[in-house]
Amino acid sequence: MDFSLTEQEKMLQQEAKEFARNVVMPLAAEIDRTNEFPFGLAQEMAHRGYRGLPFPCAYGGAGAGYLAYALALEQICYASMSVGAIMAVNTVPEEALFRFGTETQKQKLLTPLVQGEKLGCIAFTEAETGSDPSAITTTATPEGNFFVLNGEKHFVALAPGANLALVFARDSEKGLDAFIVDTSSPGYQVKELYDTVGLRGAGTSVVSLENVRVPRANLLGEKGRGFEVLLEAISLGRLGVAVESVGVGQAALDLSIEYARQRKAMGKPIADLSTIKWLLAEMATRVEAGRWLTYRTAFQRDRGASIRHDSSVAKLFTSQMVVEVTRMAMQVHGSYGTVKNMTVERLYRDAKVAEIYVGIAEIQRVLIANNLLK
Ligand SMILES: Cc1cc2nc3c(=O)[nH]c(=O)nc-3n(C[C@H](O)[C@H](O)[C@H](O)COP(=O)(O)OP(=O)(O)OC[C@H]3O[C@@H](n4cnc5c(N)ncnc54)[C@H](O)[C@@H]3O)c2cc1C
Repeated sequence: MDFSLTEQEKMLQQEAKEFARNVVMPLAAEIDRTNEFPFGLAQEMAHRGYRGLPFPCAYGGAGAGYLAYALALEQICYASMSVGAIMAVNTVPEEALFRFGTETQKQKLLTPLVQGEKLGCIAFTEAETGSDPSAITTTATPEGNFFVLNGEKHFVALAPGANLALVFARDSEKGLDAFIVDTSSPGYQVKELYDTVGLRGAGTSVVSLENVRVPRANLLGEKGRGFEVLLEAISLGRLGVAVESVGVGQAALDLSIEYARQRKAMGKPIADLSTIKWLLAEMATRVEAGRWLTYRTAFQRDRGASIRHDSSVAKLFTSQMVVEVTRMAMQVHGSYGTVKNMTVERLYRDAKVAEIYVGIAEIQRVLIANNLLK
């Protein structure tokens, strides 16, 4: 086993670190405060090639692989989980197209996403469910060379900036279908923006589909086999959340170390207290364990293996880790940790979303256990 990174991976990690610290970090608090989608940063990430890192050069990507993607994403999430989510969520429709698209679909729909000319989102969740594919009510009715989509999707991240949406709907035969929908199609409308506790600024919105005509050519995978597309694409989404959790966890740890060194109690830095040392050691250990579980999952993907199981394991562990680590960071910061303009307060709120979105922790446990028992 070789745990070392290649020179190319180290270079990419360093470049992403500089971008995150110099460009993203100064804007992170404002994005969180306003809950406004950062169109400029989304564009900047496209210019830097961050929106197509793992995918082959033949489709306009960097061909850097999934581990390289994870390394760069971690650095961006260290500065802002919301900005990192732009990169992570966009890879879900990319992965769906890469794994299930025909060559024509890849050239026409994947390439503009990977090159950063277009931004993609995923619209699965509805008012009545975010966990149960059999409860999806959005319909896709065949009409000549088109499908006509009707329904309402909830919690669609990146919705204000997305040009293409991976939409899940069902036909009269009740099978789940996956479509790539052009968001400029008549009847596709981004409605209200959710005022969420964390991941603010990721543009999480309600989207309505009213008689949206989608060409048959935009059906992804076999008709009625949309669940397969979902399982495969969402694996990369889970890897993305695991990376987000590691980035946020590391940021919470670093802030806590800095604070513990300068905050005094009884004339001495609180870093001298064994209770604080205990917290820092716990945080560091958990972040590091999460990091290697996450890197291993990305590495498995690079080797061509399925990560359906591993991504659930990594997502479950790291999202719980980051909730716990940011709670500990708050504890180290005392009352100041609860104040709105302290970064640790934002990290604490973002961490909670990691435990919920792209499949809530309980669902990950069900998936993991079912796989173990099958
Ligand atoms: C900021 C944010 C961004 C998001 N982005 C997107 C996006 O881009 N696209 C998208 O489609 N969705 C998105 N979501 C939605 C999110 O993925 C779902 O809300 C999430 O998967 C949980 O689904 P739910 O809210 O329907 O919970 P429910 O399924 O209603 O679950 C409620 C509770 O019941 C439990 N539960 C449900 N089913 C089971 C079961 N079978 N076994 C055990 N316990 C169960 C759950 O664990 C939970 O505790 C986003 C959500 C947020 C908050």
